[in-house]
Order: sequence, then structure tokens, then C-alpha cells
Amino acid sequence: MNFQLDPQQINLQQSIRSFAEKVFEPDTASRETAGTFTREEWKKMASNSLSACIVPEKFGGPEFSAFDAALALEAFAMGCSDGGLGFSLGAHLSAGLLPVLRYADDEQLKGTLLKITSGEGIVACALTEATAGSDAFRMKTTATKTDTGYILHGEKHFCTNAPIADYFLVYALTDTEKGFFGGISAFLVPKEVTGLTIGIPEKKAGLHSSPLAAIYLNQVNVPTTALIGKEGSGVRIFHEAMDWERILLSALHLGAMKRICQKTIAYAQTRTSGNKTIGEHQAVAFRIAEMHVQTETAMLMVYQAAKLLSENKPVSIKASQTKIIVSEAYEQVARNAQLVFGAAGYMESSGIPAAIRDAQAAAIYSGTNDIQRLLIASKLG
Ligand SMILES: Cc1cc2nc3c(=O)[nH]c(=O)nc-3n(C[C@H](O)[C@H](O)[C@H](O)COP(=O)(O)OP(=O)(O)OC[C@H]3O[C@@H](n4cnc5c(N)ncnc54)[C@H](O)[C@@H]3O)c2cc1C
Repeated sequence: MNFQLDPQQINLQQSIRSFAEKVFEPDTASRETAGTFTREEWKKMASNSLSACIVPEKFGGPEFSAFDAALALEAFAMGCSDGGLGFSLGAHLSAGLLPVLRYADDEQLKGTLLKITSGEGIVACALTEATAGSDAFRMKTTATKTDTGYILHGEKHFCTNAPIADYFLVYALTDTEKGFFGGISAFLVPKEVTGLTIGIPEKKAGLHSSPLAAIYLNQVNVPTTALIGKEGSGVRIFHEAMDWERILLSALHLGAMKRICQKTIAYAQTRTSGNKTIGEHQAVAFRIAEMHVQTETAMLMVYQAAKLLSENKPVSIKASQTKIIVSEAYEQVARNAQLVFGAAGYMESSGIPAAIRDAQAAAIYSGTNDIQRLLIASKLG
């Protein structure tokens, strides 16, 4: 498999990286303090097509392949240390927008995509419930059929982007008997519907600028056109979205790892101890070498998985492997950077404590790493 980037892909990465550096990096601290990004900031993301990068050309998007979308997220995180903003973008693209693009029909897509390309359409994924996390398909939220559509009823927790989202991709039981086996369906629900309320934004350990909350669906009436894909196809839709999310978010983490490595090397070349730079001490040099090895490994995993995804080849095991390797390496790289920076790396202003906290979440969301190991094991023999 050839991972050589062509001139167009190199340009794409350079332009997104410098866009992220100029437009988003300077306000990282204020977004983290606010616990969110603003609509104006999201619109800037849309003006550069980032938040609609996988939208087909016929709907006004740039129609990035999965590989190019991964390159875009990697470049974004290389240019901007705001892990929360990158995470919100990655979650919207993979767990929100992608299933809509794949399974909604042209009629359903028309109005929605106009909003998404203009930055007025943030899509949040609502699967997890208070008593159904890893075991998400044991959900209790129901979608009861009526003459004109469905009534949704239940609660969804830990919903990324909920406080600012315009649409929710809600997974609900259309057949409680069948459950996992054809009883779960996906619905695209606009935030304005009667009976939908958004919980108070949660205080998270990291990813501070990515707002997250529960949503409550109290007898919410939606028309039949809210159904995405066929009735009963929710599990398949979600699994496909998770393949994308595991790979695209890993690409985002890869960009963060590259940025942290570069910053650490530069620091080790200038900070002195005794009559040497700290990088000349073997203990420090080895630590940095380890960071570099982990980053290179992460890059190979991400690029391979993203290529397979672009080629529509089976990718689930690779996506799980990539998610485990990259999320665990990301935390170790951030922690090693902290040790190289010493006290300076323990200060919030260095961005390193935030990176460690962001990396810890990566082992939990998109299915915990334990669950990824289970998925891999179940497909091995
Ligand atoms: C920052 C963040 C953003 C999120 N965004 C979203 C979102 O946008 N939409 C959404 O729907 N959800 C979202 N989630 C929820 C996320 O998908 C769940 O947290 C995750 O799937 C794990 O579920 P849980 O937290 O209920 O843990 P649990 O399922 O309760 O698991 C607890 C522990 O038990 C282990 N465990 C559970 N079952 C097994 C098993 N069978 N074998 C071995 N070990 C097991 C787990 O690995 C974990 O260590 C988000 C979570 C976070 C942290």
C-alpha cells in the first residue's frame, strides 16, 4: 500500500494546517474556558468546507475521500491544539453526518445539506443511554409507529455537541422484541421539535471546548421522512459510522501527536542543563525517540485504515486496532512530553496537561478500548 501523498494532498494538508493555526489556535484558551465553541467559529470551519468535507459535489461539498478527510483532520490538529474543537468536528463528520449522507435519500438530504454546508447544521449522534453504554443496543428509547411517522421517547446521555447541535441522529427501538437483531432504527431529528430538551452541559475532565450533554425525548412526534435508512437498520448504520469515527478521530490524534513531538524536540534543543541541551542527555533523547516511534506507528495505522475505508474494503478490525494503538500512544506521547518539559509541562499554559486529559477520553469514546479488544477477538477465530 502506497502512502505517498500527491501534490494536491500535500497542499490540502498545508492549507488546513495554516488555516487552523491562524484562525483557531489563538483563541484555544478562551474556548476552553467557555466550554464551547461559537456558531461563528463553526461557520468559519464551514467556510473552509471542513465541516462538510465529505459532502458530495452534487450537494455543494468538496467530496473528500475517507483518506483525504483523515488528512484534513490530522492537519487540523497539527495546526491547532484545541482538542475539543477537533473532536467536535470529527464526531459531527463521522457519527453525525456520514450516516445521513450514506442512508438518507436525495429528498431528505436537500434541505439538511444546505444547512450543513453553510455551517447551520451541526449533527450530533445520540446512542448512549444511562444504563446502555458499551451495551448500547440494550437501549430503552423507543420509536413507536403512527399513521404519519413515529413517536420517540427516552433519554440519551453523553451526547457530543448536543448543546450547540442543529440535528440529532437518534437511535431508537422500533421493535422491542427484535432489539439488536433488526429492531433498532436511526432518526434525524431537528433540535426544534416539540418534546426534545437538551440537558445542562457536562463538566468534563478534558476536551473542554467540545460541549456535551444529555438529551431528553418526551413523546416527540417525527414524520416518516425522519427515518434514516430502512426501519431496523440502525445497528448496521451505527457500526459503519463507528468504523469512520475510530479512523477519523485517530487521524486527529495523530496530528496532535506530531505537533507535540515537534514542540518537544524544539524544547529539548534549546533548554539547557549543565553545559548541554537537555536533548543531549541520553535519558531525554530516548524519551523523544520513543515518542517519535509511537507517532510513526500511529501514522502507518491511520493511513492504512483510512485507505481501506476509501476503497470500501472491510475495515472494522483495522479501525478497532487503529483506535487502540493511537489512543494509547497519544496518552503516552503527551505524558512523555510533560516529562521532557519538566515543571513547564505541568502548567496549563503549555497545553500538555490538556493533551493528556484529551487523550484519556480517546480510550473511552467510540467504544472503549476493552470493547475494541473484544471486537477484534471475536473476529479472529
Ligand atoms: C468525551 C466523550 C464523548 C462521547 N460522545 C458520545 C456521543 O456523541 N454520542 C453517544 O451516543 N455517546 C457518546 N459517548 C459515550 C461513549 O460512547 C460511552 O461512554 C462508551 O461507549 C462506554 O460506555 P459507558 O461509559 O457507559 O461505560 P460502560 O459500558 O459502563 O463500561 C464501563 C467499563 O466496563 C468495561 N466493559 C463494559 N462491558 C464490557 C465487556 N462486555 N467486556 C469487557 N469490558 C467491558 C468498559 O470497557 C469500561 O472499562 C461519549 C463519551 C465520552 C467520554
